[in-house]
Amino acid sequence: MPEPSPTPAPAPALRVCALYPDLMNIYADRGNLLMLERRCQWRGIGFSLQGTGLGSPLSGQEADLYYIGGGQDRDQRLCAEDLRRVKAAGLTEAVARGAVLLGVCGGYQLLGHSYALGEDVLAGVGLLDVRTVRSDGPRLIGNVAIEVSLEDGPPQVLAGFENHGGRTHLGPDAQPLGRVLSGYGNNGVDRFEGARAGRVIGTYLHGPLLPKNAWFADWLIRTALNLGAPLAPLDDRLEEAAHAAARRAAGR
Ligand code: GLN
Repeated sequence: MPEPSPTPAPAPALRVCALYPDLMNIYADRGNLLMLERRCQWRGIGFSLQGTGLGSPLSGQEADLYYIGGGQDRDQRLCAEDLRRVKAAGLTEAVARGAVLLGVCGGYQLLGHSYALGEDVLAGVGLLDVRTVRSDGPRLIGNVAIEVSLEDGPPQVLAGFENHGGRTHLGPDAQPLGRVLSGYGNNGVDRFEGARAGRVIGTYLHGPLLPKNAWFADWLIRTALNLGAPLAPLDDRLEEAAHAAARRAAGR
């Protein structure tokens, strides 16, 4: 009898859930989602995107990667309460089962314990051990480059643009995402940028972050899909030029 031919392994597919895509989406943060989609498509990896807005509950099972972008204080206020009341349980479940969660700027702030705007304190979901305080001082604005070590090997550079009034401080259970090479980072003082706890990552880098840092987009895809092997290489000449331009803008 002929050997039965082995069943091919199912092609991987990345399921992304964007939180508040209409409210938390400044500085072209939507480009981050497009970048994930294209880099999956170009490799024959399936991709699906769902958005979830105010009032919609969040399933902790339906996505491999959850994303929350940046927003104005006003929009953050709306989202903070919804995030805590309607979505925190689902997000916590997703993180516990190994999903990746990426928060950018205003989204990053809401993943922490709190964002204090004077007397008014917005409670976050506490998935990162960070606290943010809105300062009366100048907004921290400009190009930024940070050095990041997400895996073994030499550190890599993330380059982008930051614009935030909040100053973020890390607690003992968060590690910084990176060390500031140029720019302000979390608070303009301690030279740390972003925060990380396992697969939960927060950063102030907009810009948009992923089109300027293709390597990080690939790290997110690979991690969210639990792929051990590196992803197939792509023709990244344009992406490398974008990365180099962002680094040059930050003086690195
Ligand atoms: N509103 C927040 C701040 O100013 C976040 C801004 C943003 O997402 N760019 O700190």
